[in-house]
Amino acid sequence: HLRVFNGYAPLTGDFESLYTRRLYTRIRDCWHRTISGIPSRTLHLLERYSDDYNQTFTYTGRKKEMLNLSSYNYLGFAQGEGTCADSVVKVLKTHSVGIGSSRAEVGTLDIHLELEKLVARFVGKEEAMIFNMGFATNALMISAFVGKGSLIISDELNHTSLVFGSRLSQATIQKFKHNDPDDLERVLRDAISQGQPRTHRPWKKIIVIVEGLYSMEGSIVKLPEILALKPKYKFYLFVDEAHSIGALGPNGKGVCDFYGVSTSDVDMLMGTFTKSFGAAGGYIAGSSELISHFRAEGFGHIYAEPMPPPVVEQVSMSMKIILGEDGTDEGKRRLKAILDNSLYFMRELRKMDFIIYGDEGSPIVPLLLFQPGKISHEALARDMAVVVVGYPATPINSARVRFCISASHTQKDLDDALKKVSEIGDVMQLKFKKKNWLSW
Ligand code: PMP
Repeated sequence: HLRVFNGYAPLTGDFESLYTRRLYTRIRDCWHRTISGIPSRTLHLLERYSDDYNQTFTYTGRKKEMLNLSSYNYLGFAQGEGTCADSVVKVLKTHSVGIGSSRAEVGTLDIHLELEKLVARFVGKEEAMIFNMGFATNALMISAFVGKGSLIISDELNHTSLVFGSRLSQATIQKFKHNDPDDLERVLRDAISQGQPRTHRPWKKIIVIVEGLYSMEGSIVKLPEILALKPKYKFYLFVDEAHSIGALGPNGKGVCDFYGVSTSDVDMLMGTFTKSFGAAGGYIAGSSELISHFRAEGFGHIYAEPMPPPVVEQVSMSMKIILGEDGTDEGKRRLKAILDNSLYFMRELRKMDFIIYGDEGSPIVPLLLFQPGKISHEALARDMAVVVVGYPATPINSARVRFCISASHTQKDLDDALKKVSEIGDVMQLKFKKKNWLSW
């Protein structure tokens, strides 16, 4: 595979390492898969076969229905049916799809403002701003509140979009151990004193950036412990709730709701609409002062096409359903189902002696593989779609398969899946605990 060019590296050169090439070969069963229709409780995979030498695919034209444990659809709103779908179709007719201008020019629609009010109310902040992409919300907006001379302290496993945004801001970046408030305190202490008395504060601002629920680990941020450090070290806190909004807490309002703490101590609550709302886009919520500043300074607001109207409608309808403002208890039912399903699936897998990461209540259930073996292949053979993640998304020696649980999964879906995962565990010898693997 080694391609040698005349004296200069190929354009893709830096991305080609032995490990990534090997990874592609081993897990291409589950990556870059083409599907058809709606990825919801189930998905339809296009059947294909591969030419092993060139690693190209030929599609047969046939589709296969699979149980979907691979895409984020926590509350089942990706289903494309019912109240949400009906009102999305109506808005498509009244507002169409494209807007053709940025928010700062003539791209602010009445429904954008209504959704921003709804989001602020939903997450419990004075104001909110919405964007057409979650990734871009982080990548483009962090530089609107922090820059040179300031310090960002980031959880070591923060999402790439947070890393991009932090780097673009030109602030100094330091990391602390994943979800470890003691290590965060160590970094804060060192950053503030830098060998000098504690009163010396060499940074304009200190921002701590964490996620609500980490999608590779299934871990829930230790928010109360982090909040307890705020009065002493006087930092601002930014929480990315991409995976926790809608999915955690008795009212689905994210990590603050989960712990029963006030949102007033979290300075910026960011989130996406891609996981719990069956839509696309992102938001940042905070004080009115902060949001007006973002409207003036944020690249994502000034230079980008806003969220398309049908997407705005999908988000606002699903949010109203969660809040119970559609006049039914549909939202409550979905919130109960995602919690029950997630707890059940995680607990049953733990009983089977797999090594399962994650905190109870997480709708993402990661199962440790060590090596990214052919588990997706085994799962596909049993009509289950799963995603295997390996380096660089995880440390090199702890690849994992993640099961994404949804409120739309039935008890039978979960039981069938558990039976099949157990079978795969035996075939692939993944029940490490039973073999006392870790005590070698
Ligand atoms: N933040 C986090 C923590 C994420 O996991 C993701 C994507 N999964 C994003 C931001 C980007 O959001 P989106 O996919 O909605 O663009």
